Amino acid sequence: MKITEHLERAKDTLFSFEILPPLKGQKIEDIYSVIDPLMEFKPPFINVTYHREEVVYKRLPSGLLEQKVVKKRPGTVGICAALHNHYGVDAVPHILCGGFSKEDTENALIDLDFLGIKNVLALRGDSMKNETLFAPEADGHTYASDLVKQIKDMNEGRYLDEELQNSSPSNFCIGVAGYPEKHYEAPSLNNDIENLKAKVEAGADYIITQMFFDNQKYFDFVDRCRRAGIDVPIIPGIKPVATKKHLSFLPHFFKVDMPDDLVKAIINCKTNIEVRQIGIEWGIAQAKELKAAGAPAIHFYSMGKPDNIEAIAKAVF
Ligand code: FAD
Repeated sequence: MKITEHLERAKDTLFSFEILPPLKGQKIEDIYSVIDPLMEFKPPFINVTYHREEVVYKRLPSGLLEQKVVKKRPGTVGICAALHNHYGVDAVPHILCGGFSKEDTENALIDLDFLGIKNVLALRGDSMKNETLFAPEADGHTYASDLVKQIKDMNEGRYLDEELQNSSPSNFCIGVAGYPEKHYEAPSLNNDIENLKAKVEAGADYIITQMFFDNQKYFDFVDRCRRAGIDVPIIPGIKPVATKKHLSFLPHFFKVDMPDDLVKAIINCKTNIEVRQIGIEWGIAQAKELKAAGAPAIHFYSMGKPDNIEAIAKAVF
């Protein structure tokens, strides 16, 4: 079923989460062990991230460095198919502009369509570690809005080869990313919201936000989006803080702020067990307020560890 259908049918705020494919060499059961404890809360959909290739350097016995391109977390599409079969849940693969030509994208979408996957989250992806700015493939998309347009075209039966006869339309529900604290490359939040609006005008059906720790940022963002004429559902994404390292890692990696009260509470913790508990309590307070405010769903970033999300879900759903 499409995410928009789940949202339309829901009588209350839905629970959903995102998982990462395991590192290469691990097994699908490792993913099930993350998901199993969360199934009690009846997620109608589970997102599976996509990780593009990375450039790594290996030192040779000669002392020279060998450059290698590796994919550390392959398997997004396979995991989605496995989740469909194993849990009967809608799995949402993330698909990127980065690393894909338009032809690659079309072929990936055909695979997803044949597998019966009805939902995709369309993203640009970040720049590679060896690039300063994002660089699309020679015949790839520069912005997520272009990717959304391609998916929408396929939904209307328009493939890249205009001479294809009787081409069958796909029927993807398209999600896109939104940033309550602004995407780090955008010159201003208003400009970023205009670009978000372009994704919706290109065919996006709903938005999932980047993580935030201060609900007011989400509420203000939703208000600004509505004033800008964006009328699709905006699903808040949250991540419970779990270690002291998150104090610098999460702001650095995701370009988000943490409220002073949360920062102080984490600094005062003596162990990561205490930090995990603070993260759970903060997550419960955030989720309760978002639910009371009528958020369509609350989407949890699991990063492979379900116990804190389970504790929050137990208290809220
Ligand atoms: P876009 O919407 O293309 O925006 C990128 C930047 O370009 C923004 O600053 C925007 O304002 C600007 N922009 C957009 N259109 C225009 C235009 N026409 N002219 C000028 N500027 C423009 N990354 C992964 O690699 N794998 C994942 O699985 C993944 N999952 C994610 C899930 C969520 C919910 C979120 C919020 C992010 C995820 N990301 C993932 C990270 C995401 O790929 C990065 O944040 C990336 O830098 C931007 O992606 P986007 O789709 O928001 O890009």
